[in-house]
Amino acid sequence: MKITDLHIHSNWSSDSNLPMQVAVDTAIGGHISCMAFTDHLDIGYPTSSSPFLNIPSYLYQISALQKDANITILKGIEVGITKSNRKETQSILEYFSFDYIIASCHGNDEVEFFSKKARELYGDNLLKVYFNHILFIVLSLSSFHSLAHIDYILRYHPLSLEEFLDYESDIDKILQVLIQRNKALEINTKDMTSEKCKSMYSFLLTRYRKLGGKWVVFGSDAHQAKDIGKSYQDAKGILNQAGFSSFAIPTQHGWVLSSESSL
Ligand SMILES: [Zn+2]
Ligand SMILES: [Zn+2]
Repeated sequence: MKITDLHIHSNWSSDSNLPMQVAVDTAIGGHISCMAFTDHLDIGYPTSSSPFLNIPSYLYQISALQKDANITILKGIEVGITKSNRKETQSILEYFSFDYIIASCHGNDEVEFFSKKARELYGDNLLKVYFNHILFIVLSLSSFHSLAHIDYILRYHPLSLEEFLDYESDIDKILQVLIQRNKALEINTKDMTSEKCKSMYSFLLTRYRKLGGKWVVFGSDAHQAKDIGKSYQDAKGILNQAGFSSFAIPTQHGWVLSSESSL
């Protein structure tokens, strides 16, 4: 079995202290055959203290690690998109050569979705605003491979799965855009110890497959070494139950299944 983890942060992100070499060694120790560094680029994000100051050095450091390691390391990035940063973010994505781009919904131009302020501002409309923003991201960002952590809002607000699934038609619209554009859906295991998270991904993957989706990627969203590959078996179980055989990996020629890849 080939294990992948395509969502790992390092000390290039302002919210992680993990040295890249330690992350690579940990991934190899966990029998991971393909990993991606996906450090944050959230232009204009209010609490982002050091948004990615030096992309050439970041990419150079990954290249240097690739030379020595017995593992495939993708040059990835996680971009948080708002209406006002989309164009600038897009031009950065086109200028540099990334192997893997994760599109994320962390906030809009008004508020960060994890904050209490988001609930105060939007009240009962919080989920509507959240899903509308995700739809905007997947429709308007030209370059990306996968949509990250659709469960993000559930981590920070007292919302039930039932409330989340009341927006089934909004979720369908997002999944349909991903499918039409040949983008992958990420199963993000940061919060996978919660039953709510497991049930949500179970629903989401089943729905994605029913609508014609083919590509699911695994991402631990690790910010510390101990979380690399976290809950992989749980995620694999949910994946298989939804009818998918294995996780996907992006290549220069399109998506491949990790079970069929030489990576
Ligand atoms: Zn994120
Ligand atoms: Zn992340």
